[in-house]
Amino acid sequence: MAERTLRGARLGGQSFEDERGIEFAARQQVGYRCPQGHEFEITMSVEAEVPATWECPRCGAEALSVSGIQPEAKAEKPARTHWDMLLERRSEKELEDILKERLQLLRDGEIGPAHLHRSNQKKRRVS
Ligand SMILES: [Zn+2]
Repeated sequence: MAERTLRGARLGGQSFEDERGIEFAARQQVGYRCPQGHEFEITMSVEAEVPATWECPRCGAEALSVSGIQPEAKAEKPARTHWDMLLERRSEKELEDILKERLQLLRDGEIGPAHLHRSNQKKRRVS
């Protein structure tokens, strides 16, 4: 009984895999229209994220999706990450030194959540 159930589940999984991969991959037609008025359709998987624009196959212009997907606003300059901002202030060498320093303070119980340094908390002078 148990063996049968197991085998059935495995076979079911197998056929599902085949459906997805080969025969029944769902498709969608996505329409685009370029500034010259050329209209065309691109076939995509329904799982694909539909791009807001596509290069027109006739004139090469950037065609917009006719289904009203808005292109993402393009940032004027690449977004600065926190890491970028950090590097504007400190070199990686400096950051490494700071990290070491902070880790040492953490291990000594100087900084960090109280429960972490309860055991080695000592009376310290506030400087
Ligand atoms: Zn065109």
